[in-house]
Amino acid sequence: MAAKPLAAAAIAQLETDLVSDGVSTLIGTVVNSAGLTHAKTVPLRRMGAFADPGLGASPVWHVFAIDQAGIVFGESTGVVGDQRIRIDLGALRILGDGFAWAPGSFFRQDGTPDPYCARGALHRIQTRLSDAGIDALVGHEMEFVLVGPGGERLPSHMWAQYGLAGVLEFEGFVRDVTDAATASGVAIEQFHPEYGANQFEISLAPQDPVAAADQLILMRIIVGRVARRYGMRVSLSPVPFAGSVGSGAHQHFSLTRGDTPLFSGGEGAEGMTTEGASAVAGVLAALTQAQGVFCGSIVSGLRMQPGHWSGAFTCWGTENREAAVRFLPAGPANPHGGHVEVKVVDPSANPYLASAAILGAALGGIEGALTLPEQVTVDPATLTDAQRESAGVGLLSQDQAEAIDALDRSALLRTVLGDEVVDAVVAVRRYEHQNFADLSADELADKFRLAWSG
Ligand code: GLU
Ligand code: MG
Repeated sequence: MAAKPLAAAAIAQLETDLVSDGVSTLIGTVVNSAGLTHAKTVPLRRMGAFADPGLGASPVWHVFAIDQAGIVFGESTGVVGDQRIRIDLGALRILGDGFAWAPGSFFRQDGTPDPYCARGALHRIQTRLSDAGIDALVGHEMEFVLVGPGGERLPSHMWAQYGLAGVLEFEGFVRDVTDAATASGVAIEQFHPEYGANQFEISLAPQDPVAAADQLILMRIIVGRVARRYGMRVSLSPVPFAGSVGSGAHQHFSLTRGDTPLFSGGEGAEGMTTEGASAVAGVLAALTQAQGVFCGSIVSGLRMQPGHWSGAFTCWGTENREAAVRFLPAGPANPHGGHVEVKVVDPSANPYLASAAILGAALGGIEGALTLPEQVTVDPATLTDAQRESAGVGLLSQDQAEAIDALDRSALLRTVLGDEVVDAVVAVRRYEHQNFADLSADELADKFRLAWSG
């Protein structure tokens, strides 16, 4: 998929340029079904080989589990076989201190795309959209909590929600992350202390879907590197500390047909076009089936609760932070134009797969000309059960097994992501359920606090 291989001369030129930028070591990453980021490194002279034919990796990489040891073997994800990870040199970025990074995709040895590859799945959706005449942009938010090297809580005596103290207490970290992002070409939109103690958020500029997910992974690497410099680690757990506020990985998206935006200038609700409204309806209709992809880890259910701004209610609403789907209308205060935020996604998800599920559901909504239900203009928790029922507003499940079963049964997600991807996600998440569902909330948060940290 994606990158056309660079010609030998272009690779040689890139290598020369990187040497003059002080790069000696190249890191390539892939993200698996459990949301874990895996890496291989090569000396710079092996860059061309890492891009094509790629470096070997066992198919079990797709089913490594979050407990740092488990492998959920399957028929084609077993001990036999080998695949190739190819880095996309077009997406290469310099990290500093002698390192460069590039995102990787999985291929079979015959050079065809591997159906388990998450980046490949997102690329397929991007292509389906463009075949339908639609361009998508995706913008990621990244919430994370700073912790000690063993995952322990850091002091937070001065922390206040969105407080200046957070910036000042961690000013070196904030400045170094900003500098490193700029040096690596990451477009930070904003970076601020969040609600939870020692929790920060970074919002990233919208890009095409694959590039946006690549940028998020790069940002995780940058934040993880800078945190280490200060003797800290970054928790990307959906709930780093039980009973405290969770961390989301909200995804924003917008769609255009040619030059025409689908989420503004139309006759529908909040200025949506007919297709835009159907796209949102498609995402809404897919929520319960896609929950296993958006926020399907054994820790995720702890966050998926009303009152947590995680979008636990299956509805949409303009600027409604308790709705799973928040609509942000176009206007002078909204320079990126009308767009949609899917709040339920959390950082335990594979961001490539979450984007693929969102965009595939949106495209399904357009193709099926789905009708958008009425929006919810209040906190859905303030409605009575009867009001919620008549408005078709439900709650996403806090029960991981239920969410995974719904994904397993979903014809839509199987079409969008492919059977291999769905089977792998279901397998790793069921493993988590089978092995860890008996743990208390505290034990779950403790055990997996650093599971997704790069
Ligand atoms: N931390 C919240 C979450 O778990 C989101 C807060 C916000 O809306 O920024 O999704
Ligand atoms: Mg936030």
